[in-house]
Amino acid sequence: MALKTGKDYVESLKKLNTEIWAFGERIEDFTEHALLKPHINAAAVTYEMAHDPQFEDLVTATSHLTGEKISRFTHIHQSAEDLVKKVKMLRMIAQRTGTCFQRCVGFDGLNAMYSTTYEMDEALGTNYHERFKEHLKYLQENDLMSAGSMTDPKGDRSKKPSQQSDPDMYVRVVEKNDKGIIIRGAKAHQTGIINSHEMLIMPTVALSEEDKDYAVACAIPVDAEGVKHIFGRQSNDMRRLEGDIDCGNAKYGIVGGEALTVLEDVFVPWEKVFMCGESQFAGMLVERFASYHRQNYGGCKTGVSDIIIGATALAADYNGVAKASHVKDKVIEMIHLAETLYGGSIACSSEGRPTSSGSYFVDPLLANVVKQNVTRFIYEICRLSHDVAGGYIATIPSEQDLKHPEIGKYVEKYFKARDGVSTENRIRIGRLIENMTGGTALVESMHGAGSPQAQRVMLLRQGNLKHKTELAKNLAGIKE
Ligand code: SF4
Ligand code: FE
Repeated sequence: MALKTGKDYVESLKKLNTEIWAFGERIEDFTEHALLKPHINAAAVTYEMAHDPQFEDLVTATSHLTGEKISRFTHIHQSAEDLVKKVKMLRMIAQRTGTCFQRCVGFDGLNAMYSTTYEMDEALGTNYHERFKEHLKYLQENDLMSAGSMTDPKGDRSKKPSQQSDPDMYVRVVEKNDKGIIIRGAKAHQTGIINSHEMLIMPTVALSEEDKDYAVACAIPVDAEGVKHIFGRQSNDMRRLEGDIDCGNAKYGIVGGEALTVLEDVFVPWEKVFMCGESQFAGMLVERFASYHRQNYGGCKTGVSDIIIGATALAADYNGVAKASHVKDKVIEMIHLAETLYGGSIACSSEGRPTSSGSYFVDPLLANVVKQNVTRFIYEICRLSHDVAGGYIATIPSEQDLKHPEIGKYVEKYFKARDGVSTENRIRIGRLIENMTGGTALVESMHGAGSPQAQRVMLLRQGNLKHKTELAKNLAGIKE
C-alpha cells in the first residue's frame, strides 16, 4: 500500500471507532472537533512531508523487511546515518508545526521493541521477534501511526507495582488463555494517542520477578474494546473554540494533545504479544525506548526553538529595538542554546552502534545529556524571549476586543508599535510567543521523555565514574 497523504491519514482516522472523552462528553467525530484538530493537523504534516521531494530523503526510508519505500516513522534504524537523519527530520518537521507532531513516541517504541525482542529470544528461546516483525510489516505496509504507550499512572511512587494498594496502577496481565491475554490498567500522558491507529504497550520501569504480571508488551488498536481515552487540558485550550489570533498557533496547537488511556480488560491475541512475564527484560526495553526518545529532543525542540527565536527577533523589530546591542546579544544566546541542543542530538546519533539484531542504537549517555539540557535550555530560551519581546505578550486583549466595532479602534491604536507595522501582526507574533513559551510547553520540556531525575540516574550509570577515577589516580601517581 502506498504512503498515506495527510488527507488519507485524516480519512483513515474517521474510520476508527475511537472512544474519546473531553469536558465530560463523548466526542463523536473527533477529526472535526476544534479542540483536537490542531493535533491531528500536526501529525498530518509527518504524512504530507513524505510526499515532498525536498524532504523525501529524510521523511521516508527503505524497509529492511520488504525493500519497499516506507515512512521513516515506521523504520528500524539500519545505520548511524539513519539515526542522524531522524534528528534532522524532526527538526525540519518542527520548523513547520512549531509544536509536537507526536509520531516519534511510537517510532522509538518500535525500535526499542525490535532489538529487545531479538535479545529476549536469543536468551530465552522465545518467539517474540518474529511476531513483532509481522506487526512491524503491518504498520509499514499500511503507513499507520502507532502511539508509544509506556507511562503508567504509578500510584505511590515509593512502591513497586505489586506493592500498590490498587494493583491497577501499572498495566498488568489479568488473564491468559490459548487465544491471548487480557490486560488491565491505564497509560497516562499519552502523546498523540487519540489520533493514532495503534498503540504499542510497554512497561514503564525495570521490574523484578515478583512483578512479572506487569512485564507486558503488546500492540492493540486504539479503538479496541475496553479502551477509553480521556483528553487532557492544556493552557489556553478554550481559545480554540473562540477564534484564531489568540491561539498563537491555531493550526497546530501547543504540545502533543495528551490523554489518559484506560484499558479495561482488553483482549490481546498472542500474535500481538511481545513480552509476557519476562520481567528481566523490562529494564532493557525501558532504557532503550528512553534513550531513543531523549535523542529526539535536540531535533524537535530545536525546530520549535527556531520559531521562538524568529518570533522574538520579529517582536523586537516590531517594537523598534532590533538594533539594540543587548537585544542582539540575547538573540545570539538563544541561537547558542538551541544549536547546543541540536549538537547533542547529532552527537548521540553519530555515535550510534549496532545491536545484536542489526538495528542501530544511540549512544545512551549522550542521549540522556540531550534531554537533561532540554529541561534547562528551553526555559532559558523562553525566558530570553519574554525579556526581549516585552510585557505586552501577557496583557494583549482578546481577538474579540480587537475586532469589536466600538472598542477595537483603541486596541488597534494603543497596541501599535513602530511605524509600518500593523497592530494585528504585532499581536499575532505576541500570541505566538505567549503560547509557545508558556505553561504546557515548558512542562513538556521538563517531563516529556522522562523527568530530569530519570536522566540523572542514567548519567551516573552510563558515565563510567570508575574509569574517570582511574585516569585521575594514574596522573596523580596514586598506586593502591
Ligand atoms: Fe516527537 Fe518531540 Fe513530540 Fe516527542 S515531543 S513526540 S520527540 S515531536
Ligand atoms: Fe514528548
